[in-house]
Amino acid sequence: MNRSLAEQLDFDRLHLWHPYASIDRPLTTYMVQSAQGARLQLADGRSLIDGMASWWSAIHGYGHPRLVAALQEQAARLPHVMFGGLTHEPAIELGRRLLDLAPAGLERVFFADSGSVAVEVAMKMAVQHAYAQGQPEKKRFVALAGGYHGDTFHAMSVCDPKTGMHRLYRGILPEYFFVERPRVRFDEAWDETCCQELEELLARRHREICAIILEPVVQGAGGMYFYHPRYLQRVRQLCDHYRLLLIADEIATGFARTGTMFGCDHAGISPDICCLGKALTGGTMTLAAVLTTAQVGHVISGGEPGVVMHGPTFMANPLACAVACASIDVLLDSDWRTAIAAIEKALRAGLEPCRSLPGVADVRVLGAIGVVQLEKAVVMERIQPLFVEHGVWVRPFGQLVYVMPPYCINQGELRDLTAAIVAVVGEETRR
Ligand code: PMP
Repeated sequence: MNRSLAEQLDFDRLHLWHPYASIDRPLTTYMVQSAQGARLQLADGRSLIDGMASWWSAIHGYGHPRLVAALQEQAARLPHVMFGGLTHEPAIELGRRLLDLAPAGLERVFFADSGSVAVEVAMKMAVQHAYAQGQPEKKRFVALAGGYHGDTFHAMSVCDPKTGMHRLYRGILPEYFFVERPRVRFDEAWDETCCQELEELLARRHREICAIILEPVVQGAGGMYFYHPRYLQRVRQLCDHYRLLLIADEIATGFARTGTMFGCDHAGISPDICCLGKALTGGTMTLAAVLTTAQVGHVISGGEPGVVMHGPTFMANPLACAVACASIDVLLDSDWRTAIAAIEKALRAGLEPCRSLPGVADVRVLGAIGVVQLEKAVVMERIQPLFVEHGVWVRPFGQLVYVMPPYCINQGELRDLTAAIVAVVGEETRR
């Protein structure tokens, strides 16, 4: 590790593929040396306030002593063991915590490796649920425009068809039903006609459909859009009426990000299948979980082939499970409602000046999520270095400049973070 920083970054630029990046025209990447609390320490000496929580996951910030201790203790005892035929305390303890916390009625836990894989497993379960009931024709899904569920093939098939680039994979990607994203926003007056397209689709095609998949209340990577919780209540009714499963993808919304423990809690509903990931391990390890009702479990187990057809090598990795237990304990020991409310208030106040900037289409905040939507897409080459120069880590996409900081961020850091956004968005939209 005694190579110069320039040499290291050269190797990175020439050989390492970064997410959604060109290998021939790479954008600048910044070397992170360490991270503590809500700050990233760059190798060039700069310290950045982290507005991204490593893509929603590092809810307690970095280097939390209880998370570090859990990892170290577990690493010394049992970093991994196969889950086929064997079990271990971290998986059992995590299962207990998840079922205590999750919306009522969820009673079975399947551990998966990442968010996208959890979505794959959830979709396989829904297909198997119909198959086991002698309805193999029910194998299509309904998803919402503007949704995002991951990058593996089947997860991609229920992502927004435009931003998910479905045309690129035509012929390989299964084609499912999409309805418009819920028109009524989180804080607007509810309007029942918002569900009309979905109602009509289900009336016509429910015999072919096994499940509806959606992100409760907040559509994340598909547009950072907040919709009315009553939509979820209506979807729940429709699923019950037509005997379809409701899959809630809580991978981004879970663990208090939107101000309630789960997105579904805004509506007081329970899904039949729930996907968790991201913040599950406090941003330290990759792990996801698929929770289902006992009914779904029994039906799948009662029909052919009688098992869930999935079993990855690193299923229920003990290190990941141990640190997930610690992360949930830290969250529950904290006054998270007050913490999120304080972040929400600071984001509202701090981002408000963006509203009057030319080129800004909308400013919205929910829980610990703040969004500034621009009229035009940002130019990443230009805007990313500007944020770094202003001492913050914010990574926009398309027209969206958004933050979802770690919950440990303090008021001073929130002021600096939002002031940097106001300054950078001002510079960007003046061009
Ligand atoms: N579902 C949602 C709602 C997500 O936000 C994401 C990740 N952005 C995923 C699924 C996929 O998770 P992963 O990146 O861990 O595969």
